Amino acid sequence: METVTAVREMKARCRAWRRQGLSVGLVPTMGFLHRGHGSLVERSVLENSRTAVSVFVNPAQFGPGEDLEAYPRDPARDAEYLRSLGVNILFLPEPSEMYPPGFATFVEAPSLGLRLCGASRPGHFRGVCTVVMKLFHIAVPDRAYFGLKDAQQFFILRRMARDLDLDVSLVPCPTVREVDGLALSSRNSYLTPEERAAAPLLRRALLEAEGYLAAGGRDAGEACSLLRGILASDPRFSLDYAEAVRTEDLSPVGTVGGETLIAAAARLGRARLIDNVIFDPDPPGRGRPRRGEGGAPR
Ligand code: AMP
Repeated sequence: METVTAVREMKARCRAWRRQGLSVGLVPTMGFLHRGHGSLVERSVLENSRTAVSVFVNPAQFGPGEDLEAYPRDPARDAEYLRSLGVNILFLPEPSEMYPPGFATFVEAPSLGLRLCGASRPGHFRGVCTVVMKLFHIAVPDRAYFGLKDAQQFFILRRMARDLDLDVSLVPCPTVREVDGLALSSRNSYLTPEERAAAPLLRRALLEAEGYLAAGGRDAGEACSLLRGILASDPRFSLDYAEAVRTEDLSPVGTVGGETLIAAAARLGRARLIDNVIFDPDPPGRGRPRRGEGGAPR
């Protein structure tokens, strides 16, 4: 595995792969890697001749007062982990390499970015879309891998890829969890041992909402109040949002009829935890193909 820090070199390396007819998988990350990131990388290594992983804590997606400086970093450990997974290139640029003096052009996130996490993190998805678009142009991947732990991010990027005719398939990957259900996240390192023990309550609350729908309930408001009720049982949690939206356009759902994302975010100590469930009352295999799964057309 090689580590590349310069955009110009990364472009040359990835374009050389393409000239040789090799397929390229890209996994964008902010580092401090865990098995959740590892699952995306493993899939890319399986499905492509070459895999590039970017580790870049993207300043453009952090708002004022957010945890840009405190965000956990361990590039040496990340490099060792990625090497063990068979990655070909680790792209590790400095912020000044991605945003040189005079940088002024951004990709405006679609309106899907105004809701859920976008409501409490204004500008966040604009920063995400901008950096992912840059990474797509730099690495020219055939496929790019994203986790459904950040489901809103995936649906926004899928929209961007469709709207801007990008020649890359976006591959959604399932959320990897600890045995007690907590979704793996680099930010879990902010939790104290007591908070870490309490953290799976968010998953339990989401499963309660999913259970209601699985049992035939279709009132999205009821599903979300069940969720809120469970989280309210522990005063250390401060709910940011709990909402049911259509996966297609993230518009609010009243009565659950199609594929629905129930997403929640809550603060617990220094950490802001997010998680979700995706419920489909008419799943593929029962007649209807799942819309959009597998990402943008090439
Ligand atoms: P991050 O480093 O947090 O920006 O995440 C980089 C990528 O890894 C994103 O596509 C995330 O959705 C994905 N990811 C993060 N945590 C998990 C997890 N627990 N399971 C699956 N994918 C994840």
